[in-house]
Amino acid sequence: MRLLDALKSSTEYLEEAGIEDAFADAEILTFDAAGADRLAAYMENPEITKELLSKIRRLIRRRAKGEPLQYIVGHVDFLGLTIYVGKGVLIPRPETELLAEEAIRTVQSSKFKVQSPKSSSRQRSTIPALRILDLCSGTGCIALAIAKATPDADVCGTDVSRAALRFAKKNAEVNEIENVSFLEGSLFAPILGSALFDLIVSNPPYIISADIPRLQREIKDWEPLEALDGGTDGLDFYRKIFADAAGHLRPGGAVLCELGFGQAAAVKEIAQKSGFRDISVNKDYAGIDRILKAEL
Ligand code: GLN
Repeated sequence: MRLLDALKSSTEYLEEAGIEDAFADAEILTFDAAGADRLAAYMENPEITKELLSKIRRLIRRRAKGEPLQYIVGHVDFLGLTIYVGKGVLIPRPETELLAEEAIRTVQSSKFKVQSPKSSSRQRSTIPALRILDLCSGTGCIALAIAKATPDADVCGTDVSRAALRFAKKNAEVNEIENVSFLEGSLFAPILGSALFDLIVSNPPYIISADIPRLQREIKDWEPLEALDGGTDGLDFYRKIFADAAGHLRPGGAVLCELGFGQAAAVKEIAQKSGFRDISVNKDYAGIDRILKAEL
């Protein structure tokens, strides 16, 4: 059997299982298993061994059962970083890259730089590094993207999930990022008593509990619900984050968080009531209010 024959039967198998993007998923899994790039696969269409065929079939059967493609492949790209994912950790979404990019813009803005000049400054040793906190860090993708783009910052990620932290630490290692640490615990619990932060970022769970049964099965049956469930109105984590954020930020510090659909007004109000003055919201590629920035 040749590789493209395996692709054809894999596609049919996924179609019969009701997988929406059967062909695209079959292509990725089949070529990934063969270690072949797409062009080479089509140009050369190599003969495949029995072992490779059973490997392909194992992957395809996992996808047919609804397991997310990203868990099967084992990693995703996040702003150029290789982020390992698997059972127990939320898969980074494209819109979360916008949050990380906004965080990077914020820490590199002149307002923040005053606090921590680049390494060329003679005063460097006397000026503390920028401190950034990522709550509900999951795979660590946001913390890692910020840490990589801002080598003179100390980034700390916290998460309640031990499984998630294992991925986050592995992701730091794989991407060779050292100015980041990951701590286990709920929100601010692991950093109580530490120095103030310049920026707090978070993509917290924000789905309304009652909406969870209506999510795609790839999400509701496979991804950790604790990373998705934001309580009765989806806003539980924003209330908890803003209740404590000001106490952990230096004057002029900021909170940046990802929002769920339709949550901008409510979260803005929560931030205002917690003493944040300048609040702005950015849209994602779909035109949905997605990133909220609140400054003290
Ligand atoms: N954006 C995710 C989704 O749509 C939800 C992640 C979250 O709750 N922060 O499934």
